[in-house]
Amino acid sequence: MSQVRAVVMPGPHLPLVERLYPEPRALPGGAVLETIVSEVCGTDVHLHRGHLGTVPWPLIPGHVSVGRVLETGGPLADVEGHAIEPGAIVTFYDVFGICGSCWHCTVAKAGTRCPSRRVYGITTSADEGLLGGWAERIEIRPGVRLVALPEGLSVEAFMGGGCGAPTGFHAVERAGIALGDTVVVQGSGPVGLSALAFAQLAGAVRVLVVGAPADRLAVARALGADDTLDITTISDPAQRVAWVRERTHGRGGDVVIEATGNPKAVPEGLEMTRDAGRYVVVGQYTDVGDVAINPHRHLNRRHVELRGCWGYEYTHLHRALLMMARHAERFRFEQLISREYPLARAAEALDDMEHARVVKALVRP
Ligand SMILES: [Zn+2]
Ligand SMILES: [Zn+2]
Repeated sequence: MSQVRAVVMPGPHLPLVERLYPEPRALPGGAVLETIVSEVCGTDVHLHRGHLGTVPWPLIPGHVSVGRVLETGGPLADVEGHAIEPGAIVTFYDVFGICGSCWHCTVAKAGTRCPSRRVYGITTSADEGLLGGWAERIEIRPGVRLVALPEGLSVEAFMGGGCGAPTGFHAVERAGIALGDTVVVQGSGPVGLSALAFAQLAGAVRVLVVGAPADRLAVARALGADDTLDITTISDPAQRVAWVRERTHGRGGDVVIEATGNPKAVPEGLEMTRDAGRYVVVGQYTDVGDVAINPHRHLNRRHVELRGCWGYEYTHLHRALLMMARHAERFRFEQLISREYPLARAAEALDDMEHARVVKALVRP
């Protein structure tokens, strides 16, 4: 094959187009992957709606992907020192360019806030090369962290969680769940469903999921949710808060994790958090507007701890993979995959995701 195909999002609200690229070659220290599957996630919908500030249009979407190594630019190894050779089935940490030497990296130790940080399929331009997964090939830049899928974890199980798995893992780490806590998860997309699974492994005795639509809540129950509330059946936020309180001795969740993408969920979630509880906001990855909270009632008097959670680091991807492989029988993440689409039908995948007709959609080039 002398040319390979990719799907390009030219800009907000513009129709997707197909673009041909020359067959890429691995740079020294880099690699070329033959794409097996890439994901369609809520971020891609927000990108297309223009909700993310600094996008270098045009863009090849697809930030979390699995591929087969076609070529490496010299010897490559994973963090354990194991060689990564052509033929290996790998995913990669979609973030690159973290400098390791700026104030954010060294003093604050918050690599996800490094100003040099870039993300495949989100902050990479289609003019730079094949740096998104909705394409037949993915160029792995030198320094990008490749990791083989652990034994026992199928491509489909990993991609069922997709970017939601390390994001949900990070949110659970930020949540500091104690053994025996009751956790409430707002949102039943891949981030919320992953947080539901990892919260149980982190010691939650009960997890309640507040979300929609019904098919996502069915997956939530299959992943161990003790009870689910379909927000489309109760439109009054006060009644939804009452639903949580009825199941938590009138107090609210010890920990509440927000994974909705809707700002209105935040004051509601604070009402669902018990006094001196903890509230983690992970679902507001894009800017979709402001919302009012009452600092006295929601925070100060309630003695609530409020934590934000931005992106994930390699450690979250690495450990999420290990846990997904170890608990692959208990948490069948492949259940999240509703449909797969060839490149030519990527627009349909985006539309289905936008209208929540699918839990997780995959592009299989
Ligand atoms: Zn994503
Ligand atoms: Zn830095």
